[in-house]
This record gives sequence, C-alpha cells and structure tokens, in this order.
Amino acid sequence: MKLAMIGFGQAGGKIVDKFIEYDERHGSEIVRSAIAVNTAKADLMGLKHIPQDKRVLIGQARVKGHGVGADNELGAEIAEEDIDEIQGAIDSIPVHEVDAFLIVAGLGGGTGSGGAPVLAKHLKRIYTEPVYGLGILPGSDEGGIYTLNAARSFQTFVREVDNLLVFDNDAWRKTGESVSGGYNQINEEIVRRFGILFGAGEVSKGQEVAESVVDSSEIINTLSGGGVSTVGYASEDVEPRESGGLLSRLRGEDSDDDLDTAHTTNRITSLVRKAALGRLTLPCEIEGAERALLVMAGPPRYLNRKGIERGRKWIEEQTGSMEVRGGDYPVRGSDFVAGVILLSGVTNVPRIKELQQVAIEAQDNLDEIREESEENLSSLVNDDADELESLF
Ligand code: GDP
Repeated sequence: MKLAMIGFGQAGGKIVDKFIEYDERHGSEIVRSAIAVNTAKADLMGLKHIPQDKRVLIGQARVKGHGVGADNELGAEIAEEDIDEIQGAIDSIPVHEVDAFLIVAGLGGGTGSGGAPVLAKHLKRIYTEPVYGLGILPGSDEGGIYTLNAARSFQTFVREVDNLLVFDNDAWRKTGESVSGGYNQINEEIVRRFGILFGAGEVSKGQEVAESVVDSSEIINTLSGGGVSTVGYASEDVEPRESGGLLSRLRGEDSDDDLDTAHTTNRITSLVRKAALGRLTLPCEIEGAERALLVMAGPPRYLNRKGIERGRKWIEEQTGSMEVRGGDYPVRGSDFVAGVILLSGVTNVPRIKELQQVAIEAQDNLDEIREESEENLSSLVNDDADELESLF
C-alpha cells in the first residue's frame, strides 16, 4: 500500500529515512511521500533521504532550533502552535494517491512523543484516509523520565490514531549492548518487518497478481477497529530460481512444478509458527488478538495456497480470532521466504502494564523531588531565624 509517512522527532525522522532507503533497495514503492518534523535543526540536517523541502523545523520562536529536551508537554504545545507549518508540507502530498498516513515517533523523547498525537488528531479531522501511528517504546535502561513520557504519549497516541503499531526497543536490545549502540540494526529490523507488511499490498508492475495476493484493503481492514498492533516475522533462505545455473536446469529445477508441494507447505506452516511465537515488535500474548493478517513473501514457486491456508487456520486457533486474513506477496528473484504476521487489537501486553507502573513511580518520584528541592532551596537561601530581608 502507498503511504504518506511523517517522521516526528529524531527517531521518527531516522526511521522514515530508512524506509525510503528500503524502498529504493527493494522497489516496493510504499513511501509515496515522506516528511520529517522536528524542533531540533541538527536532527533534520542529519537525515539522508527525505528531501530538504520536506523537512519542517517547528518551534523556532520557542526553542530556536535546539529541540525540547525530553519535555513532551512542550513538544505537544509546539506542535499545536505550529500545526499550520506542518500542514504546509502535507499540502504538497498528493493525498488522493495514498492509502493511509503513517506517523512515526519515538515515544520516550519530547518532540515526537508530544507532537505525534497532536498531528494524528489534526490529520484525522481533515482527511478521510486512515491515520496510523508507529510508536517506538524506550529501552528500560533509558530511565524514568523516558518511561513516563512513553506511557503518557502511548495513551494519547492510541486514542488519536486509527491503529497504533508498536515497536519496543527494550525487547530488541542485545545483551551487553546499550540501545543507542544498536539503533541502526534495530531500525533495519523495523523497516524489514513493516516494509514487507505494507509492501504486500503494493505489487508492482510486471509481477503476476494472483487471487491470493494480499491487497491493501486487507491491511486496512485488519487495522480498522483501532487499538494496538504488533508484528511477527520469520524467514528462511531458499535458492532463487534466477540463480539456477546450467546444473540446476539440467536437474530440472527451473520448472515450476519441480518443488515438493508437501515440503513447501510444511515450510510455510513452520514459518508461520516461528513468526507468531518468536519475538514480536511488541511482545505480548497472541491469544485474544482481535484480528490478524498473515503475509507470506518470497519467490512465487515457494508460496502455496495450502500452506498459507493452514498457517491462517493455526493463527485462528492460537488467537481465538475469527478475523484472520492471509495471502501472499510474490517477490521474484528473492532468495528467501518470509512470514509476516500482523496481530491487531492485542490487549494482553504485560510490557505496557510494566511501563505504566514504572511511569507512575517516576511521576511520584519527580513530584517528591520537586517538593523537596523547593524546601531545600528555601532553607538554603533564607537564614534560619529569618533575620535577613531580600532587596525587593
Ligand atoms: P525527540 O527527537 O525529542 O522526539 O526524541 P528522540 O526521537 O531522539 O528519542 C525518543 C526515543 O526514541 C528515545 O528515548 C529512544 O527510545 C528512541 N530512539 C531514538 N533514536 C532512535 C532510533 O534511531 N531508533 C529507534 N528504534 N529508537 C530510537
């Protein structure tokens, strides 16, 4: 499907930038338009692919291009004040050519955390196209303020978008590595998963369009109904047909019916299990997910209807949902088969409950410290017996 992507804040901008790179590499054509919005000039300058005239610096009067720190209330205020400037960039998007908006933001910081929900609300008021969010949760080692920001932003963002797709940095941190050290790899993971998912509904010219191919309306229907979504992924290398040399041709491996159907079916079903039970973008219990979409991507001869149908049934059993869609995404010349599962309307998410708990503790702690520091300052500045008078 074709998306208008808006990266809000540093993480949002970097990830949208990476989506463009992914698009160019794979020819998937999912990024119809891309915009970056930030209060920090340096972050906008660091982007590589988003065109210069699609980079919007907001809040110049308030923060002079230096960002909002991690103050997401200020981020939200600035987004509201400068919404016309953002709209100015959005006006250049041929909205009739996009299937949906996708607002990407790290929820732990200030600009994206505060601004993304404000923009979502604005877009929903103006356009009829769905407005989705891709929210990045902070790592638990980032500290209380980031957790508090994320918990408050999450709550607001879910309310304002048609669906919030979530990626949890914490679940993707490698042991012994700080989250920031691994952002590049994490961002690759993000665009791979969401790239296949959104690319599925956008089969480009020259590719055969079978009845079983996923259509963008199926992605939209799976996401409709709102709530929170997570994405599972698993892949397995296969021999691309194009690489079949003389030897494979002699063996007859170039013919369409040379693959063992049972083996292909089994490979698909085991990939589906791996994708659903492996690490999700937001770890959660898949039981109770309201809707799901299974996308099998890869060279057409490695995809078969029976395997996808079995995988789809298995997801129905595991989630208890009656609304599980499935289809394929033929990618000629690819050297792997991948299963992507979108689980929409998930509600059993211990990570969110934990995030909220830590956020509440951080909030109480901050209030306490603020009170204490007021007291401490006043006892420092004022003499004990109150004998001194201030000047005015
Ligand atoms: P903002 O510019 O004020 O919106 O804040 P940032 O986007 O810099 O940071 C917000 C949060 O996003 C951080 O707390 C991190 O959890 C996360 N983050 C920052 N940069 C990246 C990135 O490149 N990739 C990912 N996955 N997360 C990031």
